[in-house]
Amino acid sequence: MPTVAATHDSTATAALEKAAKYLCTMRCGLCPHVVEKYPCPTDCGMDTQVWECWVHFFRARAKDA
Ligand SMILES: [Zn+2]
Repeated sequence: MPTVAATHDSTATAALEKAAKYLCTMRCGLCPHVVEKYPCPTDCGMDTQVWECWVHFFRARAKDA
C-alpha cells in the first residue's frame, strides 16, 4: 500500500497531467514554447508529447510563485 503522501502526490501529478493534456488540446497541440515563449526542458520532436512540456511549464511556474 502506498503512503498517504505518495498517494496524494500521484493524484496531484495525475491532475496536472490531465490539465496539461486538456490545455494542449485547447491550444491545438502547441507546446508552451510556442504559446508562452517558454524554453522547453527537452528538444521537442515527434517523440515528445506536447502535454509533457506543459507539465514542465506548470511545475516551473509553481516553483517561481
Ligand atoms: Zn515543447
